[in-house]
Amino acid sequence: MTIGVYPGTFDPITYGHLDIAKRASLLFDKLIIAVYENPGKKPLFSLQQRVELIEQAIIGWPNVQVEPFHGLAVDFVQKVGGKVMVRGLRVSSDFEREFEMALMNKKLAPDIELVCLMTSVQYQFLSSSLIKEVAMLGGCLEDLVSDHVAAALREKFSSNLAKLSTARVR
Ligand code: ADP
Repeated sequence: MTIGVYPGTFDPITYGHLDIAKRASLLFDKLIIAVYENPGKKPLFSLQQRVELIEQAIIGWPNVQVEPFHGLAVDFVQKVGGKVMVRGLRVSSDFEREFEMALMNKKLAPDIELVCLMTSVQYQFLSSSLIKEVAMLGGCLEDLVSDHVAAALREKFSSNLAKLSTARVR
């Protein structure tokens, strides 16, 4: 059985991530979406919330599961018996970062291969950080994230959104 692992922060999961996960799930017997705690990035959503948002988004995807992890991604891949790490590429700056990480990961775990999938064109501008900014300012998230993710974002930013609507009324 070939297991692929798609690691990331997923703060929160977007349609860009889901597109990569769906396409990767067709390449492996099992795909694990591995959610990195990433305290350095100070995520908006807790690790548990990010896992739950993904679980809800992949209901009905038979060979995909979600797991949180701490520490090195390659250690997690080895722990679950995976052979391949999956990442998504949008623009050339993603490539430079992924290339650097891939070389380091190869040094740390030579047996693990990296598969990078190119973004689908409609998601090439989509990132979790941009989504958070749009959500904070009350923009429309349709076609960018699942409805339950949009609702979770609105809840996180509810006090800011209330202030914005008061300012608009004035
Ligand atoms: P990280 O902090 O590990 O980069 P992210 O959650 O930002 O975590 O992204 C996880 C992976 O998904 C990365 O490989 C990233 O390049 C990829 N990714 C993010 N958004 C998109 C998108 N819109 N299209 C394709 N790949 C994406």
